[in-house]
Amino acid sequence: MRLDAKGIRYITVDEFRVLTAVETGSRNHEIVPTSLIKRLANLHGGGINKFIGDLARKNLITKVANSKYDGYKLTYGGYDYLALKSLSKKNCVVSVGNQIGVGKEADVYVVMGKTQSQNENSDENSGSKPGMIHGRRAKEEVIDNEDISEYALKIHRLGRTSFRSVKSNRDYTNNKNSSPSWLYLSRLSAQKEFAFMQVLSRFGFPVPRPIEQNRHCVVMELLDNAIPLKQINKIENPGRLYSDLMDLIVKLANYGLIHCDFNEFNLLIDNNTLKPILIDFPQMVSVTHKNAEFYFNRDVECIRTFFRKKFNYVSLVYPMFTKDVTSVDVGAKNGGDGESTSAGYRLDLIVANSSFTHKMEKELEQVNIFYK
Ligand code: ADP
Ligand code: MG
Repeated sequence: MRLDAKGIRYITVDEFRVLTAVETGSRNHEIVPTSLIKRLANLHGGGINKFIGDLARKNLITKVANSKYDGYKLTYGGYDYLALKSLSKKNCVVSVGNQIGVGKEADVYVVMGKTQSQNENSDENSGSKPGMIHGRRAKEEVIDNEDISEYALKIHRLGRTSFRSVKSNRDYTNNKNSSPSWLYLSRLSAQKEFAFMQVLSRFGFPVPRPIEQNRHCVVMELLDNAIPLKQINKIENPGRLYSDLMDLIVKLANYGLIHCDFNEFNLLIDNNTLKPILIDFPQMVSVTHKNAEFYFNRDVECIRTFFRKKFNYVSLVYPMFTKDVTSVDVGAKNGGDGESTSAGYRLDLIVANSSFTHKMEKELEQVNIFYK
């Protein structure tokens, strides 16, 4: 599905009210009954049926007839609209440019947004209300061109490619007639990515600087001076990059985390320093995960295989979970809840205490299982 950035400007205030009503209704209804949409939108001037029809024509909502009643569902288009509207109120996204990445579970675009200073983002601001910047209505803020920078906007789109396999593997919703709520799961995925990016960035790991998250969207630093490892055909010193990557896997694990998708697509190499930058975090797990050893060793193996095939580089030296990861024991000694230990910090525990809770992690893991 494509992002229709132009459509963003062309919905009326009343249509927006109706769209918001469908979103609100979705919290408790897989298909939001038309009567509930009417009640929630509470439009005194009437015309609700027309607005519903217009939104459906614009593909922001879609009509679904179930056995008991007719109703509507928000589409990815509608969800994109709501997220971008919120991000634009905060001036995080003032315009959408080219698409730079099409992954399995996300689309990535270059966007323009208000320049964020190093410490203006994340933790402090993430709790602010939509439309407010430092307690002031965003509308009042005038930004000039010098205040604008490029960022990357990642739109999470779970279910696009994996729907069938999830369906056939297991009935996620315990109801044969209903499908998983992909919009909800995409939001969880974005929340997880943002929470991890915040913590990793705070602890100096080489990841894009997180800027903002709304619904299924994450705005982050644009890595425009780096290229995906996949596209690099020749390097002068493969051994150096190889050990930088292995050091990164080990350091992450000793801070309590395993990436689980540590490969040439999710590593970008800085053009100047030739150092790696890691992206794509929705599948990360804690070193205490029951399959931690398997995931850790698989990440290592991924890099070994890539270096062998691409650069003809083979090293006998490579890390192993049981030998090189000491954070698990330390966590256990501290009863598993010590964020900071004598050996360092446990970022998995810090994230678990953030806005991305353990319960959310459990919900998301049910679908992530099928991607691994
Ligand atoms: P997916 O889950 O779809 O794999 P990714 O986060 O890996 O999503 O992003 C897909 C692609 O988009 C990446 O392989 C990379 O080429 C590009 N990309 C992602 N984030 C950035 C960024 N911050 N700066 C530049 N390019 C990015
Ligand atoms: Mg990726």
